[in-house]
Amino acid sequence: MNIGQEVLQELKKEITESEYNRYIKHLAYDIKKSTSDLAVFHASNALVSNWIQSKYSEKISHLFEVKTGNKVTVRVTLKNSSEKRKIVKKNTIKTSHSLLNPSQIFDNFMVGGSNQFAYSAVKSVSENPGNVYNPLFIYGGVGLGKTHLMQSAGNVYENQGKSVIYTTSEQLLNDFVRHIRNKTMEKFQEKYRKCDMLLIDDIQFLSNKEGIQEEFFHTFEALRGDGKQIILTADKHPKKIGGLEERLQSRFEWGLVADIQPPELETKIAIIKSKCELNKVSLTPDIVNYIATVIDNNVREIEGILSRLHAYSQLMHVDIDLAFTKNALKDQLKEKKMNLSMESITHCVSKDLNIKPSEVRSKGRSKNLVYARRIAIYICRELTQNTMPQLAQYFGMKDHTAISHTIKKINELIQTDEDFKTKIDELTNKITSST
Ligand code: ADP
Ligand code: MG
Repeated sequence: MNIGQEVLQELKKEITESEYNRYIKHLAYDIKKSTSDLAVFHASNALVSNWIQSKYSEKISHLFEVKTGNKVTVRVTLKNSSEKRKIVKKNTIKTSHSLLNPSQIFDNFMVGGSNQFAYSAVKSVSENPGNVYNPLFIYGGVGLGKTHLMQSAGNVYENQGKSVIYTTSEQLLNDFVRHIRNKTMEKFQEKYRKCDMLLIDDIQFLSNKEGIQEEFFHTFEALRGDGKQIILTADKHPKKIGGLEERLQSRFEWGLVADIQPPELETKIAIIKSKCELNKVSLTPDIVNYIATVIDNNVREIEGILSRLHAYSQLMHVDIDLAFTKNALKDQLKEKKMNLSMESITHCVSKDLNIKPSEVRSKGRSKNLVYARRIAIYICRELTQNTMPQLAQYFGMKDHTAISHTIKKINELIQTDEDFKTKIDELTNKITSST
């Protein structure tokens, strides 16, 4: 028995049998990858691996310390990802610094209006590197898929046997500093100038770092001169990054600058469905819809939510239905509720329906007004923590029974009228996305 297995046997004594059988039993210790301060385990699917990492890694680390006297970091990864990566490595002539994630490929990137432009740009660059847009500069908010897209291009190219370097600009900076310290700058230069494709993620971190900017400028020129493709990402347009040498900033714009916008509702739904498929979680359409409307625009959040739902349902032995989902996500929603006011919701609804906010809150009885008011009340009830009497007061209704009557009416409409339901979903999405 190796040390990893011994530790898991110890852990078995501390948890219930069903927990052990469900999560820990199939965990495999990777002797090769583990070191005296790092313990690597492989799990069979992404959800289980996330769950173990968050739930048990501290315990496991503690048990290691008890056994070996060393403090270790516990890392739980997917069984397949390392195997897949090995296969990629075998088939290709490559440098040792590429850190491409083999599961970030074009095939599992969902395309919608918000990311269509960036997707097409990266796709065409991957089909014709060095020739169409060089450099390609992708920018947009956190969790919108910049890294995924960039890695997709890298994977395509690497599978053709080319050498691809993927690095974040922080890693690049560290590498630079290390080579300076060791007086091995020629090695640094050779490494980055010899690759066939250079991917640098989150380039905004180079802001105000003059030494590395100077060095990177020369790397950039050398690669571009040789027709080697460069792809860069950042959280902002090159012009807005600030603290960049002018010659770099202008070169960043030489090829193509493409932005990624937050996903629309349909794209979010498509992404959730694809992640469910990947992780073998099955959710009904109304749950998928609910998740899509309540999550922020950050796509990364989706994976966390799915693993949470899965883990809860496994632990509590219940199927995932809508009520269960709402309950499981209530903390997430609570945070959001803190930020939403009845004013902002009313404002958004009235803008969408082309009515003045003051009219929505008036006692006017025209059909349009009543329609808008009912929608605003319903969404306020769903998305804020206001009580029924508070809603009644805000919307100028008689009392809480008038509010509960309104909400009942809207619920009936949602059940029977698909278009109306879509309207409510879209509005909810708009409101939660704007905070
Ligand atoms: P960024 O680099 O823009 O912060 P990432 O590329 O790291 O974002 O994306 C965050 C997570 O969301 C990743 O797991 C990625 O696979 C996923 N993701 C983002 N956009 C999409 C999309 N359009 N389709 C499928 N998955 C996506
Ligand atoms: Mg990223």
